[in-house]
Amino acid sequence: MKSPVYNFAAGPAMLPPPVMQQIQNDLLDFQGMGVSVIEISHRSPEFEALLAETDSLIRQIAQLPDTHEVLYIHGGAQMLFSAIPLNLMGLGPKGKAQYVETGNFAKIAAKEAAKFGEIEVVATGAANNFASIPSLSQEMFDPQASYVHVTGNNTLFGTQYQEFPDTGDVPLVADLTSEIFSRPLDYSKFGAVYAGAQKNLGPSGLALLLIQKDLLGHAPKNCPKLLDFQVSADNHSMANTINTFAVYAMNLVLKWILDQGGVDALEVQNRKKANRLYQVLDDSAFYQSVATPESRSMMNVCFNLSDPDLLKTFLSSALEQGLYALKGHRSVGGARASIYNAMPMAGVEALAQFMIQFEQKNG
Ligand SMILES: *Cc1c(COP(=O)(O)O)cnc(C)c1O
Repeated sequence: MKSPVYNFAAGPAMLPPPVMQQIQNDLLDFQGMGVSVIEISHRSPEFEALLAETDSLIRQIAQLPDTHEVLYIHGGAQMLFSAIPLNLMGLGPKGKAQYVETGNFAKIAAKEAAKFGEIEVVATGAANNFASIPSLSQEMFDPQASYVHVTGNNTLFGTQYQEFPDTGDVPLVADLTSEIFSRPLDYSKFGAVYAGAQKNLGPSGLALLLIQKDLLGHAPKNCPKLLDFQVSADNHSMANTINTFAVYAMNLVLKWILDQGGVDALEVQNRKKANRLYQVLDDSAFYQSVATPESRSMMNVCFNLSDPDLLKTFLSSALEQGLYALKGHRSVGGARASIYNAMPMAGVEALAQFMIQFEQKNG
């Protein structure tokens, strides 16, 4: 394979090279302790300090208001598909929540939530196979709903909310797994946002939850201890042994985000990267974008080849050029370039050049 390799995997996804280097340097000797960060107690002063620093990095990057709590939840984003309804379904008088269906993960989230209450799908993108985000207006939301759930970026179809809906007094909950900290957002408008770490934050298995404090404490009595957000808040997310390695890696990714100039600078860079690839798609009849222009994602650029028989050759030739993991999700097909925060412009440019040359040869 050609060097360097650019990793376009959807998740787990590439991490910034300086972060990987730092992990390698630190692995056997954390802060001069002579032991690894994965060998020390989560109750040690060194780890407690690391966790506290991670909290404040998150607050700084997100400009998170004091009304919101920072929690780390085990089990990844899909554990939150269960924990969100468990904790929040009791907020409204009807035990009912509204979900916007914009793709595969949105559907899984709604299906899981239906175990814990009544779920109303207020809008769906199913009619055009999730190529766009359905338009939403405040009248669509039930003021008595416990919460409204949306999926900020749809990883499989490459669509993304350009603006989030106004749900009035009903808490808005967003799964931001594949876009967290890729653009500035006003977190005061969200009751809760959550993200599995493996796309923009670090290793898999841990999820970040930023939640309005007054939404805590509403879990039913039989809620599993480790899924009760109030228990997490009372124990600094350490009601059991936290995934220390994931927190440590996230801490380094967050410092890298600040080194890049924070989310404002990353948004500029991410838009540039995405625009470069959409330009290649739009300039060509050989490739077709999956997402419609007004819903296009900055994080996952999904496309088809007009001759689907060429896909296999496209993927294998790309791999020979060091362009790794461009295959679309098995349920969607086609190709997908995941270009999260860590993907440099050079990787995007290498892919753009490859696509243009591949079309010249095969178009
Ligand atoms: C990847 C992804 C998930 C899955 O997260 P897990 O950590 O594997 O549970 C959920 N939601 C979205 C939007 C995703 O992109």
